[in-house]
Amino acid sequence: MEFEDFGISNELITDLHEHGIVKPTKVQEETIPHIMKGRDVLVQSETGSGKTIGFAIPTIEKIKPIGRVQALVITPTRELARQVGEEYVKFSKGKGLGVAIVYGGVSINPQIEKVREADVVVGTPGRLLDLLRRNVLDLGGSNYLIIDEADRLLDMGFIDDINAIIRFMPNQKQCLMFSATINSRVLGMMHRYQKDAVKILLENVLERGILEQYYYNIKEREKISFLVHLLKTEKCGLTLVFCNTKSKTRLVASVLKRNGITAECLNGDMTQHMREKVMGQFSTGKIDVLVATDVAARGIHVEDITHVINYDLHDDADTYTHRIGRTARQGKKGTAIILLSEKDYWKMDKVMDGHRDLIDKREPGEFEMVKLPPRRYTGNRRFNSNRRGFRGRRRR
Ligand code: AMP
Repeated sequence: MEFEDFGISNELITDLHEHGIVKPTKVQEETIPHIMKGRDVLVQSETGSGKTIGFAIPTIEKIKPIGRVQALVITPTRELARQVGEEYVKFSKGKGLGVAIVYGGVSINPQIEKVREADVVVGTPGRLLDLLRRNVLDLGGSNYLIIDEADRLLDMGFIDDINAIIRFMPNQKQCLMFSATINSRVLGMMHRYQKDAVKILLENVLERGILEQYYYNIKEREKISFLVHLLKTEKCGLTLVFCNTKSKTRLVASVLKRNGITAECLNGDMTQHMREKVMGQFSTGKIDVLVATDVAARGIHVEDITHVINYDLHDDADTYTHRIGRTARQGKKGTAIILLSEKDYWKMDKVMDGHRDLIDKREPGEFEMVKLPPRRYTGNRRFNSNRRGFRGRRRR
């Protein structure tokens, strides 16, 4: 199938070709024809599958440059809002559509100016709601609603915000939902907002051969040393390391740096400016390793991540699927590794649920211990709730 078969304009096709997009991906093949026919779709798709063009191209085709919002895209994170918004900007230039990308953490005033003239708005729930409540965003003429990474929006607790945003939209609209996993909550959202949606469920792409998955049994206190060893001995390209807490991302990145590995952390404590800087360093290969929390890493689209390392395992299989989906994209090979310590065993059962036959065990072999930074004392004895004082004993 070719883009020409979808009934989209020649100008748009030329634009796609100029950006090296010549042949539709599987998601695009399966999705674009339904959207063009006006159907609602629920699409199981990962970042990297080409889903953005899958919904951007047909919506760009259908809307007009009238300076009134006709399409709204809701994304869970700022990074994803930017990525999706930039795809819209790229492919709607020829048609002269106005695109506003809105998210929190930066000044609202330039965004207010943009949304006033926009035909397409792409944004995160909090900022969208803020703009709606200030009466600067008018969704009364918005006939296209795109909910991107629906599962993650729900995981992040945005359901009330989304419901509130959708109340500002007309009842008659085409609703397109994209989600890496289709769970009961996503289906609940589908029933609420979609009419007779076409469900497009893609086959499991996590096949052996494309994505290699394995785990090492390793003591918690030896994990960091083993990680240093692994990064130095495995042929890793760009590597994404997942930790479950922000403080852990800082600790791990700092130990890696002390041991000669170019690494940075990415977490929700960092300013938007810092996050963008680090993402830029990673995507251009200035640093080899990004140590991130799930929220911060969500929506990262960096080509050619060769390894995803679960430094901490998450207790839910969907998150594991999201994490490993950062590698082995577009037919390229990738490796997903779990460092499994005594505190992770109970989680492994859950993760193994969907991947049991695909994750192999490997032996860590011998490796050197690295020096850890001195442990800082974080408690505050003075404010110990024990009113007898920090010694904990009543003087007699
Ligand atoms: P996405 O899954 O939307 O994040 O897209 C992942 C990447 O694939 C983006 O950099 C797109 O520009 C690129 N891409 C999307 N569709 C195609 C296509 N049909 N051919 C080549 N690259 C594509």
